[in-house]
Amino acid sequence: MQPVAIIGGGPAGTAAALAALSEGRPVRLFEKTAFPRHKVCGEFLSPEVETVFQRLGVLDVFEAAKPAPIRRAVLHLGGREKRWLLDPPGRGLSRHALDWALLRAAAARGAEVVRESRTPEPESGPVVLACGRRHSAPRGDRLFGFKAHFDGLSDDSVELFFFPGCYVGVSPVEDGKTNVCGLAPEITLAARGFSIDEVLDSQPALQERLKPLRRRMEWLLTAPVLPDRRFAPPAGETCYRAGDALAFVDPFTGSGMLSALLTGRAAGQAAARGLGITEYLDGCARVLSRQYRLAAFLRGVLGSGLTPYALEWIPGRLLFHATRPRLPAG
Ligand SMILES: Cc1cc2nc3c(=O)[nH]c(=O)nc-3n(C[C@H](O)[C@H](O)[C@H](O)COP(=O)(O)OP(=O)(O)OC[C@H]3O[C@@H](n4cnc5c(N)ncnc54)[C@H](O)[C@@H]3O)c2cc1C
Repeated sequence: MQPVAIIGGGPAGTAAALAALSEGRPVRLFEKTAFPRHKVCGEFLSPEVETVFQRLGVLDVFEAAKPAPIRRAVLHLGGREKRWLLDPPGRGLSRHALDWALLRAAAARGAEVVRESRTPEPESGPVVLACGRRHSAPRGDRLFGFKAHFDGLSDDSVELFFFPGCYVGVSPVEDGKTNVCGLAPEITLAARGFSIDEVLDSQPALQERLKPLRRRMEWLLTAPVLPDRRFAPPAGETCYRAGDALAFVDPFTGSGMLSALLTGRAAGQAAARGLGITEYLDGCARVLSRQYRLAAFLRGVLGSGLTPYALEWIPGRLLFHATRPRLPAG
């Protein structure tokens, strides 16, 4: 039986591998980077990931990595704050730990992991494209992502600080560490010589939040970040796109990994069963499109000066729920 080829070993690629293996198909997974590795990400896992890990048969692997519980959410909008409880809680786990644990689990179940940068080959059997988001964007007003881990007292909240054109998230991960991750326009970063510390110090509320913490690693920067979706297949598409390679939701929603796991699992099943690409993509659109529409709307609101007033009347729990993908049954 021809193996399912999977390009990319992030959450989407490993979910696809685990799903295809449980359908009885052999899997060959190509990953260009040596794991474990750090990755720019808020590392906030939406509560629904536990159900997805259970369906993939790796909930024990996830729990063994000791993700931090995240029970409270706080939005800092200019001078105002919006707080609510997360029930069930979210979880915080570094990509260093998560991606490595999932890749090892896929290998332990029989996936052949090949350390290679790969492009899809025509006529080579089913291919899942899980290689992450596109990196190209016009110079000038590009958004860059950044992240570092900090030591010091950690708590159980995810806090998001919004300021012109930027947001920064602060939340716990495993082993008492705190992750600080954000997005900022090129122009803001360039004005401060790409010093992330200076950008963060310029915001009093953020400066106060980070005061008791000590940075334990260099800042990581990531290439331009732009929301993107490809639910309509380009002519001649033969791959099952999953995760960010299919659709990249604005990261402030903290739901990109959940979407990647869901579409990765669906892609692995579809590739193993020989489902048509259009049928597969229709299923993905049903799961993701509400979340994408709302995230795009909120991004527009956040970009306007009306943010604090516009968001004040929306209950936090509703805001949170509406920016998650729909969990398909079974
Ligand atoms: C600033 C920022 C903050 C974020 N915060 C959060 C958050 O808090 N919570 C959340 O849920 N989501 C968050 N996200 C989104 C989340 O990071 C992504 O949705 C998630 O990583 C998508 O997983 P993926 O497997 O599709 O892609 P990736 O995680 O990008 O994995 C793709 C993999 O493919 C490999 N690869 C690429 N090309 C090739 C090739 N040609 N051959 C072989 N291998 C290849 C790469 O090395 C990589 O390991 C954030 C994103 C950004 C930018």
